[in-house]
Amino acid sequence: MERARRYPDSDVFYRALDRELPLIVRGEGCWLYDAAGRKYLDACGGAFVVNLGHGVSEIGEAMAAQMGRVAYVNGTAFTNEAAEQLASELSTLSPRSLGKAYFLSSGSEAVEAALKLARQYWVERGRPEKTKLVARSPGYHGNTLLALSVSSRPHYKKLFGSWLTPVEMAPAPYPYRCSCAGAMDCPSCSGSAVEEAILRAGPRSVAAFIAEPIGGSSTGASVPRADYYTRVREICDRHEVLFIADEVLCGAGRSGRWLGIEHYPGAVPDIVTMGKGLSGGYVPLSAVLAGPKILDVVAQGSGALKHAQTFSHSPAICAAALAAVRLIKSRSLVERAASTGLLLQRKLAALRDLPAVGDVRGIGMLAGVEFVRDKTSKKPFPRELKFAETFMRRAQDAGLVVWPNVGQADGENGDLVMIAPPFIISEAEIDELVARFSTALNKTLAQIPVPGGIA
Ligand code: PMP
Repeated sequence: MERARRYPDSDVFYRALDRELPLIVRGEGCWLYDAAGRKYLDACGGAFVVNLGHGVSEIGEAMAAQMGRVAYVNGTAFTNEAAEQLASELSTLSPRSLGKAYFLSSGSEAVEAALKLARQYWVERGRPEKTKLVARSPGYHGNTLLALSVSSRPHYKKLFGSWLTPVEMAPAPYPYRCSCAGAMDCPSCSGSAVEEAILRAGPRSVAAFIAEPIGGSSTGASVPRADYYTRVREICDRHEVLFIADEVLCGAGRSGRWLGIEHYPGAVPDIVTMGKGLSGGYVPLSAVLAGPKILDVVAQGSGALKHAQTFSHSPAICAAALAAVRLIKSRSLVERAASTGLLLQRKLAALRDLPAVGDVRGIGMLAGVEFVRDKTSKKPFPRELKFAETFMRRAQDAGLVVWPNVGQADGENGDLVMIAPPFIISEAEIDELVARFSTALNKTLAQIPVPGGIA
């Protein structure tokens, strides 16, 4: 049992078929333990999901209690207490105009459903010409085909491009790699690029604009400037385009507010998607939030969102997520994400002095560290060197789990890693994180040296 595993020695179709994977047997707080007795600091909450920490027994107990009463009912025939209470909790946490929650399992499903809801809204309002979608590049919204269509990550699209639907792309705000040097009228950073994309597509035919309020791994936790979403909201209103905020990664407290868009007062989206940390990572649960503006049209029209999935509104899954959301509230973890987030960002900023670290940025418990071959020119490492992947493996050797991302510099090159620990991380653990990061970077640079040695 103590061996790490690899394909084809086991019966699992692994996500990585080219390497050995440690066998994790236990998690507690910010730490994971493998069968060989090694421990890892989970500095990215798995995939930005573990916000409460590992090993919180109350969530499993709540799920087991619900399963003992009733685990599954079909959501078209019945409702259930867990879904009702979870929706009420989300309603109190969200803007009033987003008070209704539709439950699904993954972030990709929530994005698919949100985009379909936008399309259905316009059709049922008598505007069938509104078919087009506008999104941002770089950006990521999921791996199912419509969610992938609105994503801009060429390496994901290479194989399946011919199956995707065309989407009008606006450049995402990505200050570190923007040529504007902070100019106020920069189209990408000000949001006016979104209007340009809507105009290119033809405003009468655009159904929705979708964006991650705070950049996820595609732009390495880039934070749009303070007036960005006010501008976007005004543009969407003027052109009758629905604004969908994809909060799958930055929502549920990760940015230090319940929703990332709350950092932009007044910019209330029409539809919100959530996932990942919404259940603390304990169950696959995602949600689409909307309000009467949209739902009244569907209720008076066809009467249902045309996106049926067997496990939507599942009592067992909703019960686990309800327990997670209540713990996030009762333990004041969003407030903690804000205050510990300041500490995390301050301590991570010291990494800027290390060789090959081009930028460190983020907000709350979400940070990105971008690696470059040359700090002055911001030139990335050539893709074939696989810097981010090598760093991730050396970090794992050093007992540190980080999330790599590639291709953000120009669509092909670019290396960064994301840091997004559980909100309960202590100051001593943050220091440990920074120390292990430095060790992993030294080991990576021993394999992939920067030109001219230590920069
Ligand atoms: N939207 C965003 C912003 C995401 O970061 C992700 C996942 N990384 C998704 C959607 C898709 O979520 P899932 O992987 O759960 O399908």
